[in-house]
Amino acid sequence: MTVTRFAPSPTGRLHVGNIRTALHNWMLAKNAGGRFLLRIDDTDAQRSKEEYVEAIREDLAWLGISPDGEERQSQRMALYDKAFETLKAAGRVYPAYETAQELELKRKVLLGRGLPPIYDRGALELSDRQRAAKEAEGIAPHWRFKLDHGSPITWEDGVRGTQKFDPAQLSDPVIRRADGSWLYMLPSAVDDIDMGVTSVLRGEDHVSNTAVQIQMFEALGSGPPAFAHEALLVGREGKLSKRLGSLGCDAFREKGIEPQAIIALLARLGTSLPVEPIGQIEALLETFDLATFGRAPAKFDDAELERVNTALVHQMPYAEVADRLPEGMDEAGWHAVQPNLATIAEAAEWWRLVTGPVEQPEFSEEDCAYLSEAAQSLAWSDDPWGALTSALKEKTGRKGKQLFLPLRQALTGMNHGPDMGELLPLIGEETARARLKTASQG
Ligand code: GLU
Repeated sequence: MTVTRFAPSPTGRLHVGNIRTALHNWMLAKNAGGRFLLRIDDTDAQRSKEEYVEAIREDLAWLGISPDGEERQSQRMALYDKAFETLKAAGRVYPAYETAQELELKRKVLLGRGLPPIYDRGALELSDRQRAAKEAEGIAPHWRFKLDHGSPITWEDGVRGTQKFDPAQLSDPVIRRADGSWLYMLPSAVDDIDMGVTSVLRGEDHVSNTAVQIQMFEALGSGPPAFAHEALLVGREGKLSKRLGSLGCDAFREKGIEPQAIIALLARLGTSLPVEPIGQIEALLETFDLATFGRAPAKFDDAELERVNTALVHQMPYAEVADRLPEGMDEAGWHAVQPNLATIAEAAEWWRLVTGPVEQPEFSEEDCAYLSEAAQSLAWSDDPWGALTSALKEKTGRKGKQLFLPLRQALTGMNHGPDMGELLPLIGEETARARLKTASQG
């Protein structure tokens, strides 16, 4: 059974990049009839906040991305300790005592010589006595995972194809700090094994972590999951942007963006499939395929999101939006204003044209006379607008804008707006006549 996971650290709100990763993992699981897990990576007790855990759950729920299970790393520490002891016994983790400054200096020296800043394994050279001396000085070690330099690390990446790393070109990663706290690498591998995760889809910034983690899986006696790394999300200008890093569900909601629009855009952004206003998740799932993912960065463009959103709003059936519409707005009201909306919230603005009061412009004497004629000609039927405009056309000889615009202005106070044929029945006979009369009085 396919098992995927989304593993955010609750150190902030979800941003559009995380949302995309969550969505793709969820789609991957759904398409395979599998399970999608939410794993809260909260090993960093200082930076992790409960309010962010809540916010992550709420944002996913709003987006319609529902996890089939939730796990928290903070409750799984015993497992990491156990794996750590296993690796230690196998000689795959070792203590290191360098300070941050010493490490920085080593880096600078290597970079200065034009060499890659790979950790020199200085700590492996320490004798037992030297180590004991460090400890006696009160220096607690941090811990590194010892990479096996024996053979290249390779995997078939679901997006990037065959990947190959020379482990000697990688630093032995620090997996545990001197205070005993964990860095992300080992707990993540332990959890992927323990939770039976079969596919890991994440950003390409994790590619070299994957190389390291593949050795961790092996050292822990398990085969690695299938890995896939998608190209990162960038702004329209093609660069990683700070703004995208903080653009999340709150900002989308505030702008009237529907979750379906975010899903439709992110499901296909960066793939060879066209971004389309597809409101049914089933239709998006049907075409979702890692083989369509490109290597070039996926460009996120607000204008594109707004276009998708508008197109989806124009498709939404009344039942889906009814509880978000202004008081009194029925199905006919929704249909009248729907084509004019960019967001559902705008329905309230257009609805005010029906409920009033409307602010009419000043009319010329000629238009006043015309509107007075209109007030008298108004007769109620299934199609009062059609009847009114044909009667006035005949009586006054007006046509086009001259015929329609003063009526629209008098009836709604606006120069443009929803179709009058749909709006007038909603305004109602009495109100319509009153508005025409008021307008005719200049
Ligand atoms: N918590 C890690 C992150 O947010 C998880 C990465 C992963 O998917 O393995 O970067």
